[in-house]
Order: sequence, then C-alpha cells, then structure tokens
Amino acid sequence: MDNLNKLLDLSGKTALITGGSRGIGLGIAYRLAEAGANIVIASQSQEDLDNAVKELSQKNFQVKSIKADVSSENEVKNMIDFTVKSFGSLDILVNNAGIFPSNLVMDMTEAQFEKVIDVNLKGVFLCSKYSAQAMIKQGNGGKIINITSVDALHPSSVGLAHYDASKHGVWGFTKNLALELAPHKIWVNAIAPGAINTPGVQEMQQQTTNKAVDMKKTLEAFMNKVPMRRMGEPDDIGKATLFLASDLASYITGEQIVVDGGMLLS
Ligand code: NAP
Repeated sequence: MDNLNKLLDLSGKTALITGGSRGIGLGIAYRLAEAGANIVIASQSQEDLDNAVKELSQKNFQVKSIKADVSSENEVKNMIDFTVKSFGSLDILVNNAGIFPSNLVMDMTEAQFEKVIDVNLKGVFLCSKYSAQAMIKQGNGGKIINITSVDALHPSSVGLAHYDASKHGVWGFTKNLALELAPHKIWVNAIAPGAINTPGVQEMQQQTTNKAVDMKKTLEAFMNKVPMRRMGEPDDIGKATLFLASDLASYITGEQIVVDGGMLLS
C-alpha cells in the first residue's frame, strides 16, 4: 500500500488545463502544480495567460502557456502537440474552459446557441480526443477531468438553457468516454461546481444587455439555496480536481463529484 504522500504526488506528470488563465482553471493549476505536476494552461487572452504564468512561476511551479480556442480543431491539435513537446508527456487533461452567457430561449439566436455548444461541449470532445490519442500512444494511462456544473443535473436559473444543454451533454460524454477509455487505463470523471467566485461570475453579475434576466438577483436567489452560506472559491474545485487527478481516486471512473456547498439539497 502506497503512503499518502506518494498517492498525492504528481511529479513527473504533465497536466493541461484549458481555461487555466483565471478563475476555477487557475485554482486547479495551483493545486496540481503544488502536487508536483508540470502545468500547461490554455485560453484565448494572452494577457491573462501571461499574468497567470507569472503568478504560478513565482511559486517555482513548472508552467507554460499556449493561446488556444478549444472549439477550433487545429488549435486544439497544436495545443496538445505543444504540451507533449514542452514536458515530454500529457498525463492529465482538465477540460475547464467554458462560457455562460445568459439569454432566454425566446430571444436566443442560432449563433448564440451554437457558440455555447461549440465551446462547452465540442471543445470537450476535441480536447479529450486528441489528448487521449497522445495518452494511448504513451501507454501509461491518464486522467481526464471535465468541469461540468450543477446545471448538468438541475437548472440553476432561467436564461441558461443553452448552457444547461451543453453541461448535460458533457456529463453524458464523460460517462461514455469512461467506458471507451477504461481499457487504456484512462479514467474519465467530472466535477460539478455550484456557485464559485470567479471573474466570469463577476462579469455575469454586471451583465446589463439582457433585460429579461436580472443576473444580480438570480445569483442572490441562488446563494440563498446554499446550506454552507458562502460562495465556493476556485480552490474548492482545485482540491477536488487534485483528488481525481491523483492515485487517491484509483478506482473511480465515469463519476461526477458535486462541489456546491450542499446547494442541490435545497
Ligand atoms: P471564467 O472566470 O470566465 O474563466 C473561464 C476560462 O475559460 C478563462 O480562462 C477563459 O479565457 C477560458 N475560455 C473561455 N472560452 C474559451 C475558449 N473558447 N477556448 C479556450 N479557453 C476559453 O469562468 P469560471 O467561472 O472559472 O468557469 C470555469 C468553468 O467552470 C466553466 O466550464 C464553467 O462553466 C464552470 N462552472 C463555473 C461555475 C462558477 O460558479 N464559476 C459554476 C459551475 C461551473 P479566455 O476568455 O481568455 O479564452
């Protein structure tokens, strides 16, 4: 039986975190780096990536970044190649990049619907496909962790039908991919966050374009349903991700861990 430190040790492993430049993704990058993993973070804003690399490097973590849109097949392939070339392997993929614009279905355009599905669902497909190909080639197994949402199980508010469709989709995708990749010793799981304090949520609260949905009031109502009486922090998700990425989760695949301060109980 391995001791606890060894179970949590990710040294020699490389983790790719999409949307790792801020919010939940950055919280995940911290914990995986602390456990010894080499880190690649990917997102679209070069400025956010540079700031995140600076912050993580100050802790002496091994971190590199690449600008990539997870909904573009070519950019995803390039991101995976960059990761493997940078550190010699890809062992852990965290599909965290996601968007959550709010709009009523009655007002929603086809383009708005497609954008959310492209980033949140097709992005998970593309990143998982090319990462798993690299992991299979390496022959050492791997971990894929998809950041879904409590909305993958239950709608949190009006205005997120496209988002909820994408996250329910990722949860279904997670379970089926877990079946497909188990023979290769690649475990595929999901984490469903509740309300987490991130730049994306702060921007959502300021959203004024949508007159039909008052996001500030919606979030207040959401918070009243949290038995722990606080918003989650990115580190709450970072810790759950470290558990799934480590050998503590040696017999878990096709599962979704809800990290919501008890919100779904209400
Ligand atoms: P956030 O603060 O807005 O951060 C999102 C990250 O994803 C950013 O790094 C963003 O960078 C990146 N991203 C967005 N579109 C991308 C694209 N097409 N390609 C590559 N990167 C992209 O959001 P967050 O709150 O941390 O959310 C992270 C994940 O958690 C999302 O999947 C979200 O659905 C999920 N989640 C969040 C909450 C919450 O309460 N915060 C709750 C449940 C689930 P760029 O914009 O520069 O690309």
